[in-house]
Amino acid sequence: MDTLGLATTVKQTQSLIMADRKKKIKAIGERKRAIVKVAASAPRRRSRRVAGEEAETTTGEQGDRYMSEPQYTEETYSSDHVRSLGRSQEPWELFVDGYDAKGNRIYDKATGLTCHQCRQKTLGKRTSCSQCESLQGVFCGDCLYMRYGENLDEVACNPSWVCPPCRDLCNCSFHRSKRGWCPTGTLYRKSIAEGYASVAHYLVLTQLDGAEAVETAKKLGWWTQDQAH
Ligand SMILES: [Zn+2]
Ligand SMILES: [Zn+2]
Ligand SMILES: [Zn+2]
Repeated sequence: MDTLGLATTVKQTQSLIMADRKKKIKAIGERKRAIVKVAASAPRRRSRRVAGEEAETTTGEQGDRYMSEPQYTEETYSSDHVRSLGRSQEPWELFVDGYDAKGNRIYDKATGLTCHQCRQKTLGKRTSCSQCESLQGVFCGDCLYMRYGENLDEVACNPSWVCPPCRDLCNCSFHRSKRGWCPTGTLYRKSIAEGYASVAHYLVLTQLDGAEAVETAKKLGWWTQDQAH
């Protein structure tokens, strides 16, 4: 009986130990989960505080609000952008091609091609890009001249012409907002008044990134005393 009693005690002790272990394991598990929780939340708090502006692009609780917002990049232009600026031999006559006698644009939903810049489906000539060969390279003559300083009739004679989006020069509202830049609005008059050939020339030449880009602008004859600001 004694032996049996001892055996019972041992069994009881063992089960007590097991229960205790289970409790400990559970406690450790809870602690671990708690640590994981802290670890997961800590970097988020840190990044918001330290990263400042960039924190707006993070996802998660706070970030969700900004998810549809574009990534902010500073608007500057390199030598490559300067070299990509177009030039016209002759001026393009504005508000004629695709306009009626009264000066209104002639819309043509059936056969008109949508201009990438003004998004209008009107009659009139259009560009086509030798690189993307897509709708992205379709510009009307007025947009091409006012926004990029190029003459559509001259461009049409150049089989290797490449569109502004393919040259990383597009200043349409879609491409600008993709980079987090606000739309320019009608900047043409201001650009011309300040001595620039187009809106693209104004944007690029007033926001050159470094001495090399300035040198390139000078070499290509885009840099005048008036533009040195
Ligand atoms: Zn247009
Ligand atoms: Zn293109
Ligand atoms: Zn564009």
